[in-house]
Amino acid sequence: MQKEINVTQPFLPPLEEFIPYLEQIWKNKWLTNNGQLHQQLERELADYLGVKYISLFSNGTLALISALQALNIHGEVITTPFSFVATSHSLWWNKIQPVFIDIEPEYLSLDPAKIEAAITPQTTAIMPVHVYGNPCQVEKINRIAKKHGLKVIYDAAHAFGVKKDGVSILNQGDLSVLSFHATKVFSTIEGGAIICHSAEMKHHIDNLKNFGFRGETVVEEPGINAKLNEVQAAYGLLQLKYVDAFIESRKEITLLYRELLKDIKGISYMEDMKGVTHGYSYFPILVDEDEYGISRDQLYEKLKTFGINGRRYFYPLISNFSPYSQLPSASKENLLIANRAANQILCLPIYVDLSLDEVKTISSIIKK
Ligand SMILES: *Cc1c(COP(=O)(O)O)cnc(C)c1O
Repeated sequence: MQKEINVTQPFLPPLEEFIPYLEQIWKNKWLTNNGQLHQQLERELADYLGVKYISLFSNGTLALISALQALNIHGEVITTPFSFVATSHSLWWNKIQPVFIDIEPEYLSLDPAKIEAAITPQTTAIMPVHVYGNPCQVEKINRIAKKHGLKVIYDAAHAFGVKKDGVSILNQGDLSVLSFHATKVFSTIEGGAIICHSAEMKHHIDNLKNFGFRGETVVEEPGINAKLNEVQAAYGLLQLKYVDAFIESRKEITLLYRELLKDIKGISYMEDMKGVTHGYSYFPILVDEDEYGISRDQLYEKLKTFGINGRRYFYPLISNFSPYSQLPSASKENLLIANRAANQILCLPIYVDLSLDEVKTISSIIKK
């Protein structure tokens, strides 16, 4: 049988290395609710990422939903349609109207030049996404937000370990949200986090994810249950020991793809941004049918016949899904670049155990 190569595959550390963590949990008899390993993971992650305050969550989507709650965001939020659907869903779950604006063509993130025209008296925040871990144009976004009194919440699900001029990109905006889903560079199987800038805000967020409790007998607001448990925290602590090696091997794969795919007419990819330390979360290419000869979907199907499963990520655009497609801002004319990108994008396999020979095979099929 032909070996299947998927777009991603989790790296499971040696099982015997996980056992001591489990023994510690069994000994502590503390399974969830801010346990010892949970606290340790928060400390180690804050240290590793270069951020002050981090609050762990059971997944990235609940972290996004809670981040909006923590800042009391309502009305309308300006966001990008070129993201995973959870970005807009987090607004929907807070009864906030997403207002989509187009992306910029180079790194496919929210185009700051389109923000101001979309602001109305109902606008309370901007929710950009560091797509594929390439930082958004944060200075411009911050300047506009400040001028109009808007909050900024970054969906930073792809931006684990990403730094700009030596500083974590997660320090940008009012809050940043990570996902630790099994498909991400760093994983707690399911999990996520909110990064904030003050002890008071962390305290508030910690309470929000625990039903809104302040101490034993006081509930100050309708919180949610979005806690990360001790087994997941243990998995994260073990993953963290390997994460530099993960990123290094992803970088090697990225550089080889770039080398092998350059000069193919109609195939383009993104280069590293200047001054940015990347996490190499994804390896997306754009397929220009007119120049390449076949469409993205045809290339996607062709790779499948070789057992290679790319992922059309992000396709369809969020704004084309039925819960959102009737919004005025979801019209295709409003989102020309995003619609084009969604039709051209293909993420190629990238994961720790992907061999360089496999990268060569994939690249040669694309070269045809
Ligand atoms: C993965 C992801 C999410 C959702 O995170 P979960 O942990 O799966 O809930 C949100 N936004 C983006 C951009 C993502 O890639």
